[in-house]
Amino acid sequence: MFSHLPLYAGDPILSLQQAYLAEPRADKVNLGIGAYQDENGAIPTLRSVAAVRPVLAADLGPTPYQPIAGSKQYRDLVTELVLGSDRYRKVGERTVAIQSLGGSGALRVGCDLLKRYFPDSQVFISAPSWPNHQAIFEAAGFKVGSYRYFDATTNGVDFDGMLADLQAMPARSIVILHPACHNPTGADLTRDQWDAVIKVIAGRNLLPFLDMAYQGFAEGIDEDGYAVHAMVDAGISLLLSVSFSKTFSLYGERCGALVGVSADADEAKRLLSQMEMSIRANYSSPPTFGGKIIARVLADAALRQDWMDEVGEMRTRMLRMRDRLHAGMKARAPSLNVDYLLSQRGMFSYTGLSAAQVERLRVEHGIYAVNSGRICVSGLRDDNVDRVAAAFAEVMHD
Ligand code: PMP
Repeated sequence: MFSHLPLYAGDPILSLQQAYLAEPRADKVNLGIGAYQDENGAIPTLRSVAAVRPVLAADLGPTPYQPIAGSKQYRDLVTELVLGSDRYRKVGERTVAIQSLGGSGALRVGCDLLKRYFPDSQVFISAPSWPNHQAIFEAAGFKVGSYRYFDATTNGVDFDGMLADLQAMPARSIVILHPACHNPTGADLTRDQWDAVIKVIAGRNLLPFLDMAYQGFAEGIDEDGYAVHAMVDAGISLLLSVSFSKTFSLYGERCGALVGVSADADEAKRLLSQMEMSIRANYSSPPTFGGKIIARVLADAALRQDWMDEVGEMRTRMLRMRDRLHAGMKARAPSLNVDYLLSQRGMFSYTGLSAAQVERLRVEHGIYAVNSGRICVSGLRDDNVDRVAAAFAEVMHD
């Protein structure tokens, strides 16, 4: 019956993780992983999560189905978090949210809905983007194109190219944007650049689908929301997928949200109902436990502050590692210009390493990175960053 099925090649990043685990060298370094690792190379349990999880687990009781859209408390708290309290009060009645299975689940619910009501729209993702963007939107039946984004000559954003491509898109095109901590490049827009993008989105009547998986890893929770906030303030209708996998270090709990900001309360009601219709046909309702952890933390002022501090600790550790990698490479190969490592932000960086250089790092040094040259900065630690800097300088300089 299944003899005609081809083999799914798997996700290259997950396969890289398997190769890393099988690597026998004790001083191996994992820069390929898509998860935040702490200074011991472990995926952390956050203090705020550890404080509430046992309490919630002890008090679980029966587990009935949640409403299709998930917990109302969670949805409200998350919406307030991503919009900021004042804006949330202002636009709350035309804003809706559902509790999703991670950021991926939010994207999927959103694109199923869009395919029903924007069947002729094309989807555009940044070149490059997180590979699952293309996979998810194609799975929903969309044709996925791209807009210019990364400039390999500067290792920054090709902003003129991006703007020109946005300007050339047909009205009602769906544009996937990364508000902060672009994955995979780490190259973000400045606030002025976001303002210019917003003008084009409004002028060309484009539909932005913002994907925020790293809020707080660039500058801060509020600061990293700039693109979302400015778009809402400009009166633009949008979808926003949110992931808490990294920022709460709750990968396996699958916690996220799909937020929709629309023109008025009536439109919002219909938008929410369509999100619910997508959910019902996909997985019916979300799981309970992870959402309870997040809601408990966000609802308690002290725990929420502690969580924000923890996000800050993750952010500053990654910034320190960027500094040390940059300094280590400059010391060994002063002619290399690697200043972009300092301007790129968040968990990932496009290093400019070629596939052949990545291969050399793996074979000669036991350092694992993605073929594209993407590294996960959180794989760097005080006890490996100098060795990585030396190896990078060596393969880039040769
Ligand atoms: N969007 C982006 C840009 C991501 O990097 C990720 C996670 N790698 C996601 C969405 C998905 O997040 P989740 O693991 O919560 O599904």
